[in-house]
Amino acid sequence: MFEGLPVRGMLVRLTDAWQDVLRRRGQTGGYPAAVQELLGEMTAAATLMQANIKFNGALVLQIMGDGPVKLAVAEVQPDLSLRATATVKGEVAADAPLSHMVNVNNQGRCAITLDPKDRLPGQQPYQGVVPLFGDRHEKLEKLSEVIEHYMLQSEQLDTRLVLAANDKVAAGLLIQRLPLQGEANLAGAGAVARDEDQIGLNEDYNRIAILAASLKREELLELDAETILRRLFWEEDVRRFEPLAGVQGPRFACTCSRERVGNMLRSLGRDEIESIIAEQGQVEVGCDFCGAQYRFDPVDAAQVFLQPAIQPPGTPGIH
Ligand SMILES: [Zn+2]
Repeated sequence: MFEGLPVRGMLVRLTDAWQDVLRRRGQTGGYPAAVQELLGEMTAAATLMQANIKFNGALVLQIMGDGPVKLAVAEVQPDLSLRATATVKGEVAADAPLSHMVNVNNQGRCAITLDPKDRLPGQQPYQGVVPLFGDRHEKLEKLSEVIEHYMLQSEQLDTRLVLAANDKVAAGLLIQRLPLQGEANLAGAGAVARDEDQIGLNEDYNRIAILAASLKREELLELDAETILRRLFWEEDVRRFEPLAGVQGPRFACTCSRERVGNMLRSLGRDEIESIIAEQGQVEVGCDFCGAQYRFDPVDAAQVFLQPAIQPPGTPGIH
C-alpha cells in the first residue's frame, strides 16, 4: 500500500508451489519452455488477483487457445491453494510469442471465472472474457497486457502488471489504482468509480505504475520482495503488510476427487461409459492438474449411475 495515495500494490513470488505444479507434470514429460513460462505467469497472476479481491470461491484464469496451446488454466482458492495445467498439441518453439501459442487465427480468448464456494442451485459462476487484442486491434504478446486490458475493460480498474516465470519461480507485481467512490467489483455488482477527473491522484498512480513497469524479468525472478520494493519505490512511502507464507501462503493443492470424477462420468451418460468399458474393460481418468489416476471397473462404473439420493449421507455404501 502506498501511504496516502489511492494506489495499492502486491507482489507474489511462488517457488515451492510452482515447482510442485511442474513436478506433477514432469511425470508425463513436462511443458515446452514457452508454455511453462506462460503457465507460470498465469499462476502468479491468478494468485495476485485472488489475493487482491479475496473472493470466497475459486478464481480461474483460463486461456482458450487456437494454436498449439489449446487450453491453459490456473486456479486459486480463497486460501491461496492453487493448481495449474495446460493442454498442448503439437510443437511450440522455445521462444514462441503468446500469439503463436494461443492466438494464431485470432480466435484465442482469455477468461476469468469466479466460482462462489456456496453456489446456489442454478446459480452460474461469474465469467468475464476478453479477446487477445489491444485497443488498436494489435495481437497482444504478453499475458500481463492481456490481464491489464481485462481489468480495465471488465472492471474499470487501472492496473499495471509485471510477470515472469522460469522452472523455479513464478512471480508477479501488481499495481492498481484504487477506485475512489464505491468499489469496482470483480463480481460485477459494484458501482463503477467515477474519478476520471482526479488528475492529481492519477499522476500518483501513473508515477508508481511507470516505476513498476521498469522492473525487469530477471529482477522479478531473482530478487527477494524486500529488495525489489526498495529498488523500485525507494522514494515512495510504502506501508508493507506481513507476507503470507507457509500454510497461509500460496501452495499447490488439487481439488480433484473420486466423487468429482464420478460426477463427470455420470454427466457423460451411461451409454458412453458402457461403451468405454466394453472396449477397455474399465474407465480410467487422469487428473490433468495433479496426475492422480482414477480407475472405475464395471462394478464401480455401475455404481456411479445409482441414484445417490437413495443413500442418506453418512450411511455406508451398498455393495
Ligand atoms: Zn487432481
